[in-house]
Amino acid sequence: MSVFCDVHLTEMESVSYLWQVGINSWVSDWVRCTEPGCLRHFRWSQGYVDIDQQIHNSTRKLRRCPKDPKHGGSVAIVEIRDDEPIWRCIYEERKLPLKCFNPECGVTVDITLTELEGTWSFGCHRCEETFILNNEQIRQIKRAFDIAA
Ligand SMILES: [Zn+2]
Ligand SMILES: [Zn+2]
Ligand SMILES: [Zn+2]
Repeated sequence: MSVFCDVHLTEMESVSYLWQVGINSWVSDWVRCTEPGCLRHFRWSQGYVDIDQQIHNSTRKLRRCPKDPKHGGSVAIVEIRDDEPIWRCIYEERKLPLKCFNPECGVTVDITLTELEGTWSFGCHRCEETFILNNEQIRQIKRAFDIAA
């Protein structure tokens, strides 16, 4: 899914940042504007915000998902239609056909992916098990379904 800059209405690109606070460090995935000089970034938990060396909270524009509070500020411009920005939750179309990881079950079901704090999981509605995806599985799914970070 594409995400567009809320200032320039151009498509943003994926980027990963290594954050460091004291002894803790972690990687987080964003999309960022490619227009020269534009600092706009977007992430589901942060909304749109300017980042250079740090996150400038005063520039934040965050719209919460009206359907699922776990999606956080995941409502972004995902389409430009007749020059008008279309705001929608980036997770809304994440119903994906996947083979259930349970070997006893193993059917192909439409699953809904949930991303929380970098962990991806899905629940199979046939066998009612919940599965946490590893990094390789997440990469494969993102590639297969062209999902923005
Ligand atoms: Zn921009
Ligand atoms: Zn949502
Ligand atoms: Zn299953």
